[in-house]
Amino acid sequence: MAKQIQAIRGMNDCLPEQSGLWQWVEDNIRQVVASYGYQEIRTPIVESTDLFKRSIGEVTDIVEKEMYTFEDRNGDSLTLRPENTASTVRAGNEHGLLYNQQQRLWYMGPMFRHERPQKGRYRQFHQFGIETFGLDGPDIDAEVILLSARLWKVFGISDQVTLELNSLGSSEARASYKALLVTFLRERVSQLDEDSVRRLETNPLRVLDSKNPQVQEAIKGAPSLIEHLDEESKQHFDALCERLDNLGIKYRVNPKLVRGLDYYNRTVFEWVTDSLGAQGTVCAGGRYDGLVEQLGGKTTPGVGFAMGLERLVLMLQTLSLTSDVPQPVDLYVTSMGERVVDYGLEISEQLRDEIPGLRVQTHCGGGNFKKQMKRADKSGAAIAFILGENEEAEQKVSIKFLREDRQQESIRRDDTVAFLTEYFSKN
Ligand code: ATP
Ligand code: MG
Repeated sequence: MAKQIQAIRGMNDCLPEQSGLWQWVEDNIRQVVASYGYQEIRTPIVESTDLFKRSIGEVTDIVEKEMYTFEDRNGDSLTLRPENTASTVRAGNEHGLLYNQQQRLWYMGPMFRHERPQKGRYRQFHQFGIETFGLDGPDIDAEVILLSARLWKVFGISDQVTLELNSLGSSEARASYKALLVTFLRERVSQLDEDSVRRLETNPLRVLDSKNPQVQEAIKGAPSLIEHLDEESKQHFDALCERLDNLGIKYRVNPKLVRGLDYYNRTVFEWVTDSLGAQGTVCAGGRYDGLVEQLGGKTTPGVGFAMGLERLVLMLQTLSLTSDVPQPVDLYVTSMGERVVDYGLEISEQLRDEIPGLRVQTHCGGGNFKKQMKRADKSGAAIAFILGENEEAEQKVSIKFLREDRQQESIRRDDTVAFLTEYFSKN
């Protein structure tokens, strides 16, 4: 037998048993973004390597060690997108969507990072995200956070996630803070790990973001960025906090939250949960007012977030919050005997014409009553139509209720649309 080829490590298949849940999650997300008037943007999965180097930053986990970068046949350096903010800005600049305009955009799709695969961390994973442009006040920061909070409400996990909030200030304020931080870190250099020592020189803020417990301990007393904000950033942050207070959105100010990508300024936030173990961040975002210019456009403020869909799905499964995921089939149409196969196919087609959205599975492959009913049950359908020669002769259908204790019924074929419409409006 030929050797089977396996999927790439850290890249998962989404099998039929799971895809219903994924579709349900995606559908809910689409409804929520639509309810805020956001529009979808779709960008290619592959971009020039330079795009990510220039935006995410050379001294970040992503660019240093996680990107899938390769040369194509022309010798150009290409990269599978590790995130989608850079691509959105690239597309926005390229098509003139950003300067002097307001945009509220969303995207959903696969991202690629060469990380060590583990629960909640994969090499191909999926993000849903929003990006807004042309709005620099704290009101849009609040809206972006409200939109994420609405999703937790829709999925019933509001009490499972906590909002962490910080401000990175302006790049000038950050520069003078950096000097303070570097002095502090130099005094403790022996307690830092190799990565942090290197970052001390190249990107000291990122030391605050270290996941190494030993480093975290060493930097406990570090000067706090939020106490060194420039006046305007401070006002922006205070106004955002006040809005969130007024709107009843709870948050915790975390002065060590700096985010792993270089393009952020002012507001940064993460939604974290205890229900996933180590991979506790389900959504992360912030403001990136300098990014559009950094990528060759004219100065345009931006703010957005990205949500890890695998982590969201894992949460829903861990907390058993999947009962609203619809079954793939509503109605299963059997046909007892070769001669009624056409009757079954015909009724099914008619129902698909007349009841949009009804999911009808028509039995194929013959077999006796028992076999067909077994299939009907396995399909997840609530109702089976039982069609035999008598039913066809009388232009009737027999209805068996698969999920409730209810007597079988027989109705006229002409009444099926009315019957099903009423039944599924209630069930
Ligand atoms: P982490 O600290 O967990 O590595 P990150 O800061 O690298 O996250 P972002 O770049 O901010 O993550 O991406 C936003 C969200 O995408 C994360 O909060 C997480 O939910 C999800 N995410 C990031 N990397 C992965 C991955 N390798 N596998 C699955 N989900 C991921
Ligand atoms: Mg990461």
